Amino acid sequence: MLYERPRDACGVFGIYRPGYAVAHMAFDGLFALQHRGQESAGIAASDGNTITVVKDMGLVASVFDDRTLSTLDGDMAIGHVRYSTTGSSTWHNAQPVYRSSGEAGFAMGHNGNLTNTEMLLSRLGLLPGILSSDSDLVAEMLAASCEGSRFGDTVADSDIPRIVDSSYAIDRTVDLETACLEVLPLLEGAFSFVIMDTTRIIGVRDPNGFRPLCLGKFEDGWVLASETPALDVIGAKLVRELDPGEMIIISASGIRSLQPFSPHKIEPKLCIFEYVYFARPDSILDGLEVNATRRKMGELLAEQSPVDADIVMGVPDSGVPAGEGYAKASGIAYGQGLVKNRYIGRTFINPSADARADGVRRKLNPLKSTIEDRRIIVVDDSIVRGTTTKALVRMLRESGAKEVHLRISSPPFEWPCFYGIDTPNRDELLAANLSHKEIEEFLGVDSLAFLSLSNLRLAVGGGKRNCDACLTGNYPIPVKVDSISRRLAVS
Ligand code: AMP
Repeated sequence: MLYERPRDACGVFGIYRPGYAVAHMAFDGLFALQHRGQESAGIAASDGNTITVVKDMGLVASVFDDRTLSTLDGDMAIGHVRYSTTGSSTWHNAQPVYRSSGEAGFAMGHNGNLTNTEMLLSRLGLLPGILSSDSDLVAEMLAASCEGSRFGDTVADSDIPRIVDSSYAIDRTVDLETACLEVLPLLEGAFSFVIMDTTRIIGVRDPNGFRPLCLGKFEDGWVLASETPALDVIGAKLVRELDPGEMIIISASGIRSLQPFSPHKIEPKLCIFEYVYFARPDSILDGLEVNATRRKMGELLAEQSPVDADIVMGVPDSGVPAGEGYAKASGIAYGQGLVKNRYIGRTFINPSADARADGVRRKLNPLKSTIEDRRIIVVDDSIVRGTTTKALVRMLRESGAKEVHLRISSPPFEWPCFYGIDTPNRDELLAANLSHKEIEEFLGVDSLAFLSLSNLRLAVGGGKRNCDACLTGNYPIPVKVDSISRRLAVS
């Protein structure tokens, strides 16, 4: 294994707009994706001859200013924001990853997590521990391929993927594209990539489409982004989301769409938790607006688990639409009972349980006038470790709540994610270790209800096209369970 557990739940961005200095647009795009990663940010830009990379630890606005952006010369750029957890916060893991190989070099940003890293390492002839992330491993494989190494399954001309919506032929002389066609089919797990050499940007979604990636356009250019709001903020129009298993190549000669993966591997499995928590409410995922799905989750939760109370409140930010939906369906008034400090990051990323509990106080302040002497229904999107939720319930009690009824707009989170959302090991997941009654007692609530799996699926359009492994333990790509530590190990 490369490291203990999956860590990357990131945001990626790419832009090609001939004649424009695009670094500021890449900045704006990344800024709109900041919720997907707050550990580090980076942009790689190409002026047609040279790739320049600026990346550092910290938020987009602290990594970049006018001075650094002005060094990122060129009309083509990719960007990346990376998610934070204990131990992985090193500059080396900041992206875009850059490799100088072949005639020039390439830069790459990755959202997701690979599940066959051990096999790939041995294929590359590397020992575990030499590379510090799966993104590094892919960059290494692409570089090796660009330099002429082969991994056994070379791409025969007859295997060249079909060209879906373009009249351009595959340019077999171009190293990076050929390298992608060779390397990508060997990868398993979750990956949405943006990859750039000096003259082209490649966007790829894994055959399950675990992580989102969309294509946008200007009259005179193209954009790739993890989520649609990154297009909105720079005035680009959404063309469509990339299909699972699709590879898009953007260059001066236009745009092409290829399918590098074998058709039997294609099975849409967009992460259901993107709808529950991770994505922005104004994102369109698989054609659905995330905010609307969260409201629906709240409505279904009210029908499924009603309770008599005076007021409904959502926990900012991701619990608010579900709270509104719950209020609408129950007929109980919605009230703002928690004020969020706008300048704070996500508390979940703090390493220790104490730090996370303190983080809740910094982040959310109760409005006493809404809460005091009231029976409250609190709607939040999920319970993971339970630390922040417990601190929140305590805060509501201290503010005089008469009753606290917790409603969660997703089913119990019992299984770690191996496809790109950072989650704790099984032994830290509250719902994997305690019974319903024990969770109620641990959190100190008067009642607790989770949205049922069937209702969650209903809210996201049926759920057939979604991965729900964190809720069901049904992993679309097999992972090994270590029965002693109860941790999951990547196979
Ligand atoms: P906890 O109380 O420790 O279980 O944390 C639950 C809170 O963390 C919920 O309010 C969610 O909004 C949020 N959350 C859920 N999943 C994640 C995640 N993967 N990363 C960061 N925050 C999350």
